[in-house]
Amino acid sequence: MSAIDDLPPLREVVRKYDLMARKALGQNFLFDLNLTARIARASGPLEGATVVEIGPGPGGLTRALLALGTKRVIAVERDARCLPALAEIAARYPGRLTVIEGDALCVDLAALVGNEPARIVANLPYNVGTALLTGWIAAEAWPPWWESLTLMFQREVAERIVADENKPKDYGRLAVLCGWRTRASILFDVAPSAFVPPPKVTSSVVNLVPRREPLPCRLGALEAVTQAAFGQRRKMLRQSLKSLTQAPLALIEAAGLPPTARAEDIPVQDYVALARAWDAMRESR
Ligand code: SAM
Repeated sequence: MSAIDDLPPLREVVRKYDLMARKALGQNFLFDLNLTARIARASGPLEGATVVEIGPGPGGLTRALLALGTKRVIAVERDARCLPALAEIAARYPGRLTVIEGDALCVDLAALVGNEPARIVANLPYNVGTALLTGWIAAEAWPPWWESLTLMFQREVAERIVADENKPKDYGRLAVLCGWRTRASILFDVAPSAFVPPPKVTSSVVNLVPRREPLPCRLGALEAVTQAAFGQRRKMLRQSLKSLTQAPLALIEAAGLPPTARAEDIPVQDYVALARAWDAMRESR
């Protein structure tokens, strides 16, 4: 593939602005614009799309998103050192790139986007990646303001996102939450050597698409039930759910589960049944 734009190579940009990667900010940069274009395209056709990017850094993925025809990219970056490099990209694509300096955990992304459909695409900082993801999935309003999430995680985290009860080693609270409200899949792996500096482990790009109508249940109840169940993941639920209720067997029965069920063995819909049964039990008290 030929160069995706006429901006300077990323290694040059990083040298020019002295952007030594900082571990505390989870900085592992991608310099290969063919790879960033592959990640950008993994979110679907980009022509006319609005994209929110978290942590643009020196702008490798941002450049790919813009070169591939997005209407607008809203990028939130915590490291002020990256802003001049991002300003160069904004100048190359007038009116299409908005950079917000701030902590993505605190910025109201939905308000920035307004009423347009938008997707989130990011090579996430590994230290806040899961917190950002759970924030997006646990949104009050559903369907959420975002159309899809296309995100880079460490492979081990990616496996915990997409796991089900057939993958007991990876199956846990994160998988139940993601499986309840989205369809999640791993698209491809990215080797450590693709990043500067290289992380210790392989990364994966994960795609999550909201389910229009997740099985009805209250988020807080689902969180309480999964916390209790996976808190003692190898015990039977009749033991682990004691932290939630004095009558765990009645709860398990009300959810239609066998008394011998264990956290790792039951699918997402059984957690939804438990959450609903728990709410019903509390209401009837
Ligand atoms: N997108 C760039 C790339 O692919 O080369 C950089 C990815 S790097 C893994 C993560 C980026 O997120 C860094 O630029 C870092 O400064 C930024 N970052 C870290 N914590 C952040 C936060 N809480 N909010 C916004 N950006 C953050």
